[in-house]
Amino acid sequence: MSKILIIEDEVAIAELQRDYLEMNGFEVEVCGDGEVGAKEALEHEYDLIILDLMLPGMEGYEVCRTIREQKNIPIIMVSAKKEDLDKVYGLGMGADDYMTKPFSPSELVARVKAHLSRYERLVGQVKNKNEVIEIRGLRIDKTARRVFVEGEEKIFTTKEFDLLTFLAGHPNHVFSKADLFREIWDMESVGDIATVTVHIKKIREKIEKSSDKPEYIETIWGVGYRFKV
Ligand code: CA
Repeated sequence: MSKILIIEDEVAIAELQRDYLEMNGFEVEVCGDGEVGAKEALEHEYDLIILDLMLPGMEGYEVCRTIREQKNIPIIMVSAKKEDLDKVYGLGMGADDYMTKPFSPSELVARVKAHLSRYERLVGQVKNKNEVIEIRGLRIDKTARRVFVEGEEKIFTTKEFDLLTFLAGHPNHVFSKADLFREIWDMESVGDIATVTVHIKKIREKIEKSSDKPEYIETIWGVGYRFKV
């Protein structure tokens, strides 16, 4: 269920909006103060904000800017004065829509639904796009932190995964063991560069057909390792 925050100081208007939205299956919270509303929007998860322009505490355009700095959710700004909305629009505060009061509640509901579905499509596209490195039969899903060799999943520890991802993310670049240790292990870690050798060996056991003739992680004698593409 989508959650909507109404920031509006006129109680009658706020209640009318809330009733209509609730009748249409939305969960609704109301704030009558700009500053409190901005705080509420930032500290809790909302899917959409309906924001009045003239508010006590903090003016609507300021509330809009504050929310926009941290969140991408749709914001519909409302005001009784069309000129004021035009001004706010001109300032580019990042609201997604502007409505002049009075408007019919069904018009509001229609716009809310349109913005929510547009936003869900956008967010859905981003969410569905995992970052993947694919080289020959090796597939590293960086988002899901999973590794597949010829379609078969291999289980990696956190450090093995980080090391493999780092090397694969910098193909044909030679890194010394000291470089890799600094990159993957933080300063507090116990261990030394020999840890790198151990991890490389384990990674090879999982991704290479033959550890003697590695296809992916090459040893550059006297220097370090290189991920071949
Ligand atoms: Ca007001």
